Amino acid sequence: MREARTTCPYCGVGCGVLACVEGERIADVQGDPAHPANFGRLCVKGSALHETLGHHGRLTRPRVDGVEVDWDTALAAVAERLTAVQAARGSQALAAYLSGQLLTEDYYVANKLFKGFLGTSHLDTNSRLCMASAVAAHKRAFGADAVPCCYEDLEEAELVVLVGSNLAWNHPVLFQRLKVAKQRNPLMRVVVIDPRVTDTCEIADLYLGLAPGSDARLFTGLLAWMAERNKLDRVYLEAHTQGFDEALAAANEQDASVEAIAADCDVDSERLETFFYWFASHLHVVTLFSQGVNQSTSGTDKGNAIINCHLAGGKIGLPGAGPFSITGQPNAMGGREVGGLANQLAAHMDYDTPGARDRVTRFWTTERRVPSLPDGPGHKAVDLFAAIERGEVQALWIMATNPAVSLPRADRVRAALAKCPLVIVSECMADADLLDYADIVLPASSWSEKDGTVTNSERRISRQRGILPPPGEARHDWWIMCEVAKRLGFGEAFDYAHPSEIFDEHARLSGFENDEGPGRSRRLFDISGLAGLDRTAYDALAPIQWPVNADAPHGTARLFIDGRFATPDGRARLLPVRPRPPAQKLDAARPLRLNTGRIRDQWHTMTRTGRAPRLMNHRAEPFIEIAPEDAAALGVKEHALARLHGAGGDYIGRVRVSRGQRRGEVFVPMHWSGHFSGAARMGELIEAHVDPVSGQPESKHGAVALEPLAVGWEATLLVADELGASEAAWCDASRYWARIPLGGCQRWQLAGGEPGSACGDVESAGGGVGSACGGVEKTSHDWLAWLEARLPVAPTLWCTDPSSGRLRAAGVDDAGRLRWWLMAGPPMELPNLAWLDARFAEATAGRALTTSHRRRLLAGCDDGAANQGPVVCSCHQVGQRAILGAIREGDDSVEALGARLACGTQCGSCIPELKSLIEEEKAHASAEPTEDTVVA
Ligand code: SF4
Repeated sequence: MREARTTCPYCGVGCGVLACVEGERIADVQGDPAHPANFGRLCVKGSALHETLGHHGRLTRPRVDGVEVDWDTALAAVAERLTAVQAARGSQALAAYLSGQLLTEDYYVANKLFKGFLGTSHLDTNSRLCMASAVAAHKRAFGADAVPCCYEDLEEAELVVLVGSNLAWNHPVLFQRLKVAKQRNPLMRVVVIDPRVTDTCEIADLYLGLAPGSDARLFTGLLAWMAERNKLDRVYLEAHTQGFDEALAAANEQDASVEAIAADCDVDSERLETFFYWFASHLHVVTLFSQGVNQSTSGTDKGNAIINCHLAGGKIGLPGAGPFSITGQPNAMGGREVGGLANQLAAHMDYDTPGARDRVTRFWTTERRVPSLPDGPGHKAVDLFAAIERGEVQALWIMATNPAVSLPRADRVRAALAKCPLVIVSECMADADLLDYADIVLPASSWSEKDGTVTNSERRISRQRGILPPPGEARHDWWIMCEVAKRLGFGEAFDYAHPSEIFDEHARLSGFENDEGPGRSRRLFDISGLAGLDRTAYDALAPIQWPVNADAPHGTARLFIDGRFATPDGRARLLPVRPRPPAQKLDAARPLRLNTGRIRDQWHTMTRTGRAPRLMNHRAEPFIEIAPEDAAALGVKEHALARLHGAGGDYIGRVRVSRGQRRGEVFVPMHWSGHFSGAARMGELIEAHVDPVSGQPESKHGAVALEPLAVGWEATLLVADELGASEAAWCDASRYWARIPLGGCQRWQLAGGEPGSACGDVESAGGGVGSACGGVEKTSHDWLAWLEARLPVAPTLWCTDPSSGRLRAAGVDDAGRLRWWLMAGPPMELPNLAWLDARFAEATAGRALTTSHRRRLLAGCDDGAANQGPVVCSCHQVGQRAILGAIREGDDSVEALGARLACGTQCGSCIPELKSLIEEEKAHASAEPTEDTVVA
């Protein structure tokens, strides 16, 4: 048993993790008390990290044209085919699409190989979808992509404004830090600005539920309000900025009265003025913004509208003050540092920086090779796939991401991939949708195996350490690219034996010719103080915030404290911002505004979190959140199935009626891929409109129509084994399906048939009334025959329920072990999944059903206990029903629920949901007619 320090791979908070290693497995993880991002805390995703590991489902051998090959053959194929495309179509026919999952060292090598030596500018990253607008806003305002703040600023602020950020779900440890700070400082105020009432509102003193896309109007309005009431910091503006007059003039082009701004943003004017007053009257203000701001066709302007207000009030460069963009991915920042965006070169230099191209060329030149850097920026993510569709880009290497799900118009992305003559995919998981399009598949190492560094949202570089060996023949991404580079003849420039050598080169480049000169300021990204670390020092590297150089050998918590910015004249820029509505218009065919985002327990396309059963229980199926009034008007009910029609396809999910949703708007999660559900890729719904400056897609502003999905039957099928072709068959026969991994089995939710027809008149097995099921009239007899044909064990037990029209059946093997379990019929409540899953777990352990369990098998429980409903507390697996039951019995506080059920006592991520349940239950109880009200 040993302990290893590393970093969580899920979100931009970048929490330190202590992994408890037992032989070749991680037995447990804890938060690292010494890591300054989290001081020992972990959210539910982080604390389940060890449950997502294991070799099952991993890619372990390279494949070329569908055939497993050895590494030599695969690497030679990559080199030969890239060379062939380059020879035939030129360097700009080559492209790479990377991910914020890659470590900085992987990113550095990819950028150097593609831009430096293959000579293509088309290297972009999925971070484009997440924070490219914030990057552009930083560069316009500060002269560099530099986040001014650190996490401590959230704790030291008098006012924290959260804009377009569901911090409680998407950056839970930061939310916990803020919550504790607020408890310690009762004078601290928190404002939440978001179209949806989210769990983040738990700590809000003021909530502004603004109309989607109106953020820029709100902040330009704030600037005008501050100017009108003499709430500006004129001294700061005079000494440290440029562009205020133009910014104010633009803000005043629209009616600057509070009433007009409130009307445009669709918020209450008194609340809005309260916010304006709070913002203007506090110096120590942090405005934290995230994807709700960035994922918009005016995301860059929105970022600058926020930054303008901070500059105008001098609320920057101080403890507890500044605009603070929080990244979604663990290493989005690291990718930005090495030049992982198509408009960057390397080390925060870009094509527009005078002398930068020449500087990078000289730095990368070896004795025998001069790199051939492209002249100008390449295609940003959305444009890149359009270029593939047009046939301009003919070879694409994708690493650690799935654009077939996450990009807008995912249908077109898939068509482009299918058409692209050469698609190389570096991937960890064997079931990623993307592999269907790959000519060459390269098995990559994953978290706990990868060794390198990541940078979190506060510019803190941390080590992500290689703790376990990669499975089979999986290799590190940097190693794969270096081997390809050698085969392309660039070996001298890619002669790294260890990631510490790559990091050293990256650190040296950041300090290379990095000084002030005529019309040139020093580059802020400077980690030259970390150059020269040997393997031991690199391995021991403690978390540190850049810049790290001779002036700041211990790193830099906060930027711009001296009021000097990274512009040629050292002054920050205020930008004139003219608010624009979302590019995606609503119309009669698609009248609902679509919002998309993350959920608490999932990450990206679930390739990793989908392997942890306890993370699947919070929101097990894809869903559509909708306001009660809209649900009533459209005829959809809670938990029923509904279909959204969007730009490029449909999305089917369970309805969740929510009072937190504005009328006329719906929300869907971004996580479901074709591996987990039949029609729940949110990328299908979004049109490919992008911000003109940043190229970031407008993922928060789709236009959709909603209709109920009427089905005749639903089925819950639990199976012990993965059944390949049989699974494809029952998915094809269903109008809706979702696959949900449990601990001992796979759960399938299936639905089909026509409305009004039960899934067979179960009383009349072998005949009687049927229902359409994939075009086949299905009776209970048909069901049993269907099961027999598709499952490894024939139905052993079954029963029919004439009153409900439902069939229950199970397959038990000759050794008495449970192999599958089914409940089918009209839309129904779930069985007690925990009880059934325990029987499957026993079967996996080789144990037969006991007589008592066998007797109760079709009932799905042995004590009458029903399904516990969706899991609210993932740490202790406490379901909604148990919580509601306890509240009804008087445990109406989070503390009381924790004492009784343990919910909310570990990572705390579920506390906002517990509070909501308490409030809802109280409201429900007070609305119930009492004797008095009945008499009245
Ligand atoms: Fe990981 Fe983010 Fe959770 Fe921290 S907050 S444990 S980095 S997912």
